[in-house]
Amino acid sequence: MQMNFIDNQSTPALSRQTIDVIDPSDGQVFDQIQRSQAADIDQAVNAARAAFHGPWGHLSAVERGRLLMALSRKVTEHATELAALEQRDCGKPTKQAAADAVALARYFEFYAGACDKLHGETLPYQNGYSVLTWREPHGVTGHVIPWNYPMQIFGRSVGGALAAGNACVVKPAEDACLSLIRVAQLAADVGFPPGAINIVTGYGHEVGDALARHPGIDHISFTGSPRVGTLIQQVAAERHCPVTLELGGKSPQIIFEDADLDAAIPVVVNAIVQNSGQTCSAGSRVLIQQGIYEPLLKRLGEAFSRLQVGSAAMNLDLGPLIRASQLERVTGFLDQARADGIATVAQGQIAPGVPAGGFYQAPTLLRDVPVMHRLAQEEVFGPVLSAMSFTDEDHAVELANATEFGLVAGVWTRDGARQFRMARRVRSGQVFINNYGAGGGVELPFGGVKSSGYGREKGFEALLGFTTLKTVAIAHG
Ligand code: NAD
Repeated sequence: MQMNFIDNQSTPALSRQTIDVIDPSDGQVFDQIQRSQAADIDQAVNAARAAFHGPWGHLSAVERGRLLMALSRKVTEHATELAALEQRDCGKPTKQAAADAVALARYFEFYAGACDKLHGETLPYQNGYSVLTWREPHGVTGHVIPWNYPMQIFGRSVGGALAAGNACVVKPAEDACLSLIRVAQLAADVGFPPGAINIVTGYGHEVGDALARHPGIDHISFTGSPRVGTLIQQVAAERHCPVTLELGGKSPQIIFEDADLDAAIPVVVNAIVQNSGQTCSAGSRVLIQQGIYEPLLKRLGEAFSRLQVGSAAMNLDLGPLIRASQLERVTGFLDQARADGIATVAQGQIAPGVPAGGFYQAPTLLRDVPVMHRLAQEEVFGPVLSAMSFTDEDHAVELANATEFGLVAGVWTRDGARQFRMARRVRSGQVFINNYGAGGGVELPFGGVKSSGYGREKGFEALLGFTTLKTVAIAHG
């Protein structure tokens, strides 16, 4: 059974209640986590506050950086163990879980190096004054993490907050806690003082809500659905607590007739099948210029037909979806597509021998999806790619921007001037030209516009969000 990790101690929920942990590959219960409540959050916030005013808060930036670097190395030493935990918990193919553990170590490495680079400015002002700014930590930061990339999102969110000097209270998703509890234990092993990193597990509407409402939380970093992002924002607004929201996306891959299709096709396919499409930045719409629409759909269809879905341990192209309700959600979208006469170009295969009871969905390529259809507007969060054609650049921009989201966009063209025009005109937090995701790019600020959220995580930019700016004006005559 898994415990909360509070004040560097494995701690049961005060209620002594638990939640079953289910393996998405076979639907079987294999562990339990704590079903915490507001009282457990209170305990964690008190521990974090004590750390902030005590041993953690007293460390210099250089010392914080050394601890984060030690944690990065420790994660690397334990990468196989961490990947195995997340693989079983989330149904990730071995290669994906392994990549996520590598990314976690890299986030800590990046933020280790960033700690002592964070500084304020001196400002010109009237004669007789010296004015300077300090970047100070918020204090105790709350982190609500989703289930799709627990290690990666912990790394970019908690890594940045710690680097800036905050003490953290983390609420992982109820479906995916195991790797994060272990990371917090490893942090204690390398010398993070008690209370610097606290993990409290449980349901969102219970313990997540309690975290968002707690007066001792000075900043909330939320990654998850737009619906819950709105709830958190409303609750936080009541006490004017700053919030960073990383929400969903309906990201377009825009492919012009002059694109290098050999380069584009594997990337476009991977961008929707990686993690079985359960990726906020999944490239879930492909916009194709009309002259290459049919031949490119044919090639994408061939690539989809070759994709194999299997259990996490089978390590195929896709693993299962996270839970039964997610599978129902995805099949619901596909049923609706069928009912509305949207044609399927191709589907991948569920491999023979997958365990019974797992949550398997074949990747699916749909064509001629009308721009205002649910499939082109809403986040499916599964391996479903919706294709549509465009005539020219203006039309491509119109379609790309025609959703409530604006997280990521991919543009494929050899025309250099068009690359810049498109990067300017598409409304999203990131635009990738002739690639998608820049290989994960820990250094690259990430976040959305419109309903995809606000604030930035990853990169140095994230550090600014985890601080508050103090202006100091000294009158010295
Ligand atoms: P979710 O919003 O249901 O859950 C996210 C987290 O919020 C979980 O830890 C959950 O327990 C918690 N939560 C749920 N209700 C809550 C409440 N009332 N108060 C406080 N916390 C609560 O989302 P999910 O199903 O875990 O993840 C899928 C969604 O997350 C998708 O929409 C996806 O796009 C988005 N996502 C975004 C990013 C990003 O960086 N932009 C990354 C990953 C996932």
